[in-house]
Amino acid sequence: MQWSSRQASGFSGRGDPVGEIALVARLECAAIIAGKGSPPQKTSQLLAATMSGLTSADADALPTAVRQSLLLEMALSLGSWPAYFVVRCPHCEELADVTVTQRDFEGQIAASAPAQVSLAVSETEMSFRAPNGTDEIAVLAEPAMTESQFLRRLTLEHETADEILAGLSEGGAEAAISEITALCCPPVGTIPLPCPACGGIVTFWFDGFEWIARHIGSAIEDVSLLARAFGWTEDAICALPQARRDLYLRHAREALT
Ligand SMILES: [Zn+2]
Repeated sequence: MQWSSRQASGFSGRGDPVGEIALVARLECAAIIAGKGSPPQKTSQLLAATMSGLTSADADALPTAVRQSLLLEMALSLGSWPAYFVVRCPHCEELADVTVTQRDFEGQIAASAPAQVSLAVSETEMSFRAPNGTDEIAVLAEPAMTESQFLRRLTLEHETADEILAGLSEGGAEAAISEITALCCPPVGTIPLPCPACGGIVTFWFDGFEWIARHIGSAIEDVSLLARAFGWTEDAICALPQARRDLYLRHAREALT
């Protein structure tokens, strides 16, 4: 990761998708991103579309930390790297250019967060599971869900759980949830950087979902271009090896100019 004072480079990030994700899966991802559903539902669908043997329901059941790592891994396989971003320092308001390489996130993909944790709640030791995709989806679908109700969802078997949770204030439930998420859902895709202007620490966050959405769209453009140029079907285009598709794409682009 390099971080320098703002120069004229501006916001780039758009590169040709090179990833190992097959074209047919990228087309499916484009349809998922453009389709209906909340971001956590789309995250599950994206993971299912690109990982063999994983269904959307399987992805729902994965802990949030695992889902975020997988999404980051998928994002890193798309686009051209290093990638350039412009970040505003929250301390001094100065803009700075940030150069990010795939290696900057290595530790975050390998990192494993606990699947369950024990906390003292109202002086009783209780166990909670890590939040997962189903919880992410439920929180968005039920905005009226209270902190206590959410904590109840995460509670693992405990003989006096109902009693303890009933006596817990919303503030107490919120504090317990903060503790669980801090332990089980460490931030994925964030890099702390010293601001070149004021030295304050700026947390750069790479939004994997946004990156995927930005880079997957070119799959549709490529197929449309080949279909128009040669009259091929989507199936025929997807069946071509990537290297041959690239040759035909170059030919089709040259014919346009
Ligand atoms: Zn600053």
